[in-house]
Amino acid sequence: MPLDWLPTEQTTQDATNADCRIRFSRLLPESADNQRNDHAHGTPNLSEPPRIEQDMSRLTILEFPDPRLRSKARPVTTADFTPAFQTLLDDMFETMYAAPGIGLAASQVDVHLRFMVIDISEEKNEPRVFINPEILSKDGQTTYQEGCLSVPGIFADVNRADRIRVRALDRHGEPYELDADGLLAICIQHEMDHLDGRLFVDYLSPLKRDLVKKRLAKQRRGAA
Ligand code: ZN
Repeated sequence: MPLDWLPTEQTTQDATNADCRIRFSRLLPESADNQRNDHAHGTPNLSEPPRIEQDMSRLTILEFPDPRLRSKARPVTTADFTPAFQTLLDDMFETMYAAPGIGLAASQVDVHLRFMVIDISEEKNEPRVFINPEILSKDGQTTYQEGCLSVPGIFADVNRADRIRVRALDRHGEPYELDADGLLAICIQHEMDHLDGRLFVDYLSPLKRDLVKKRLAKQRRGAA
């Protein structure tokens, strides 16, 4: 099974929701340090007319080769743990489950902070949040055919560490450590790559990556 990601007939058109993007724009790094206090937390953006949306909580997933996927995310700080941040986490889970996928990094929904959500369970009942994740140790090697919600319909073998120990914060800011192997270890490494602006297609040869770009462009023309 592919990773953050999932399968072939996936469409992202239904995920568009500009309101959510506006709602979370204060989490973006460009507006972060200087302007973060310009908006009181939870204050609606009054410059936008209110709109009723069916899928309020589905976020738009950026797709390769969107340059925003190349941004390096900044660490989450104490000030980021707002009610809006908790809502964003919930919305990311909903977006990931709906895609469907088993992992989603904040970078993929144009929020350039270091966190990601993962659930590799069949029943979708083991949600995991990794905030400011760090890999403490790596062991072994494994090859897996990966896919990515930001590179729809494309799958390729990628080599990763087979076992990792990770340190992160949970959604409430509590630190924890986790030993992961197999699919979970692969998924964590894939999502952490997103936070550094790296995509699984970067592990392919330039020639193959170019083919991927052309195939995606063709898919989009076909879908239009
Ligand atoms: Zn991905």
